[in-house]
Amino acid sequence: MKRICLFGGTFDPVHKGHIALAEAVCQAYNISRFIFIPARVAPHKEGSDSAAPWHRLEMLRLATKGKPLFEISDMELQREGISYTIDTITSFQKEYPASDIRWFYLIGSDNLLIFKSWRNWSELLKKLEFLVAPRKGFPIEEAESDILEKMIVLDTPYLDVSATKLRNHLALLKSQWLEPIVAEYILNQKLYR
Ligand code: ATP
Repeated sequence: MKRICLFGGTFDPVHKGHIALAEAVCQAYNISRFIFIPARVAPHKEGSDSAAPWHRLEMLRLATKGKPLFEISDMELQREGISYTIDTITSFQKEYPASDIRWFYLIGSDNLLIFKSWRNWSELLKKLEFLVAPRKGFPIEEAESDILEKMIVLDTPYLDVSATKLRNHLALLKSQWLEPIVAEYILNQKLYR
């Protein structure tokens, strides 16, 4: 049985929290392919400030360089309009129809709490096994039980980092939460100024 884990987000920018979660999941769930999927326009972040797609893609490339388990898909960047996970997973499962694949999808608990606002959420729950990383300020207990019982809650530690905080406090660029090669890219490209 092959295990594929997808990880969607804006990655604006990708930080060590994302990478640490991805590594923890690969180990705990014996994942054979782990695929980062940067969103062109995230449904809940429409209109908010975002670095251009190619910058976000490049930062992901830099942050995952030399980690052979990690792949990046530009499927959502190539698709016009808002990036809905249901469209992405439908494409992936069409491309890889094998019945011996277990499909996982990693989210933080902020997304768990708004999961019913995701397009076709009940269909998503049938197509994917969701892995939820607890995030400070987004208590798992506040999730609706009909959703929670269909998801797997990870025992990963709280990682006190968010891309928004990093973007808003450029001083944090040198913080422990950014891969130095990504911080250098942000400075060179004058992003988030
Ligand atoms: P922002 O602060 O701008 O919302 P973000 O890092 O949460 O940034 P995304 O890049 O979209 O935004 O995150 C991708 C996925 O990673 C989401 O499912 C999000 O919940 C999860 N995630 C991000 N940071 C953490 C964290 N510190 N702990 C747990 N999950 C996280």
